[in-house]
Amino acid sequence: MTKHIFITGGVVSSLGKGLTAASLGMLLEARGLSIRMQKLDPYLNIDPGTMSPYQHGEVYVLDDGAETDLDLGHYERFTSGYLSKNSSWTTGKIYRNVLRRERKGKYLGKTVQVIPHITNEIKRAIRSLRGHHVDVVLTEIGGTVGDIESLPFLEAIRQFALDTGRENCLFIHLTLLPYLKSSKELKTKPTQHSVSRLRQIGIQPDILVCRTEHSLNNIERDKIGLFCNLESRNVIEEKDADFSIYEVPITLQQHGLDQRVIEFFWRNLEYRNPPDLTAWFDILDRLRHPLHEVTIAVVGKYAKHKDAYKSIYESLDHAGIKNRVNVRVRGIPSDELDLSQLKEVNGILVPGGFGDRGVEGKIEAVRFAREQKIPFFGICLGMQCAVIEFSRNILGFHEANSTEFEPTTRHPVITLMDAQRNVTDKGGTMRLGSQPTVLISTSQVFKCYGNTHISERHRHRFEFNNNYREQLHNHGLLIAGTSPDGKLVEVIELPNHPWFVGVQYHPEFKSQPTKPHPLFDGFIAAAVQQHGKQKII
Ligand code: GLN
Repeated sequence: MTKHIFITGGVVSSLGKGLTAASLGMLLEARGLSIRMQKLDPYLNIDPGTMSPYQHGEVYVLDDGAETDLDLGHYERFTSGYLSKNSSWTTGKIYRNVLRRERKGKYLGKTVQVIPHITNEIKRAIRSLRGHHVDVVLTEIGGTVGDIESLPFLEAIRQFALDTGRENCLFIHLTLLPYLKSSKELKTKPTQHSVSRLRQIGIQPDILVCRTEHSLNNIERDKIGLFCNLESRNVIEEKDADFSIYEVPITLQQHGLDQRVIEFFWRNLEYRNPPDLTAWFDILDRLRHPLHEVTIAVVGKYAKHKDAYKSIYESLDHAGIKNRVNVRVRGIPSDELDLSQLKEVNGILVPGGFGDRGVEGKIEAVRFAREQKIPFFGICLGMQCAVIEFSRNILGFHEANSTEFEPTTRHPVITLMDAQRNVTDKGGTMRLGSQPTVLISTSQVFKCYGNTHISERHRHRFEFNNNYREQLHNHGLLIAGTSPDGKLVEVIELPNHPWFVGVQYHPEFKSQPTKPHPLFDGFIAAAVQQHGKQKII
């Protein structure tokens, strides 16, 4: 029987529920359990696909093309549980399903209401992840307890425990214990209030995970337990991970989170062997003791916003772990680019993006990387910028551009695919999700992957224009990978350059700390080479 864990958050937002949920998922997997993870987000957008990175950070894309919250990136980096569109729900998506059914007359003339129709749909979303081979489903509820929008979700998980049996559902509440410097104490009152709100709606948390700057002592733990109506051993501290997010699972394990979960469901008879975390200790060891340091410039529209390129930054770290180098990222907003900022970097990465702001800066950065022979990695729009740059400066097509930025350009080297020409709907209409690519075996990228057949995730509308393929090829741009039918260009590279690769897809969505993506690995290895006589630090 599949067990369910619900993770809610209280006191303030941005407490790291996603990381905590992902860490617990990883610990349970390490104990031999098969898990699935999902996030329920209370906002009204159908998915985050149409939201600005300023609002919501990056849009994380799954194999099946679902455009999701960046917390799902944590889930995939920490665990191997398969994620699909059923792993990501919003109020908008729940209501859309209910309203579609209403229009079809499926409610047989009844008044359609939040309870039971919306809550039933939420429960269906949770149940959709159950299965014969699934031991535990972890469901994270976005937002903070007390928000108006979260209420139907909380009501639904309360009912879910009633339907499924309380012994099969575990409620974890993540809260903050603020530290008052003046009195030198951790304050528990906000946590008490947050739990009392949950209890008012019928949810008694079984475990409290407390974010804190300082360790909890037994007196504080007992006090929280007493006021929040749980055993004090179920009050688990989660101290701020100052060094790396990859410390979080280890800290939680040391404070017994996974142990408590096992005891709750299985009375400690099964899955009681502590998880083997050797690989994670190795990650931390490598992060703590790098042999070198490289600086990578990330030239993008949102370079100063830490969550906008979350998966890219994580992937760079993963490659750093593998190569035992500290990767220092220099975020450079592309609309303020000054080439002197690129002088001492060991690699230049131009990430994906939409809209024309800052594009010329990105193209300049590509040119600098090409001419100065600095390792270059272009991702999606970054690859498109590389094609534009090459067309302008090597072919001499000074007006070369993407029709996204200049619809009537004389040289549309990047243009819309036919299927995209008449699309007016903004959500979920791009080329999305995993698609196969075939690489040529003489390419740099083949060396990285060690395979000619790969599959990577996409999220774009515009494509390399095949009308320019021959000319670009004749001038030295290698078409290193295409769709299996050869029609869509997926990878370009420059052979006479230490490492110059542009990919139409998003490799950053498939990198894990224990398994870095081969292209990020290759890029960082090239950056280390470029640094050459690196100093040992
Ligand atoms: N704006 C470009 C396109 O739609 C690139 C998209 C991206 O970088 N994700 O094709």
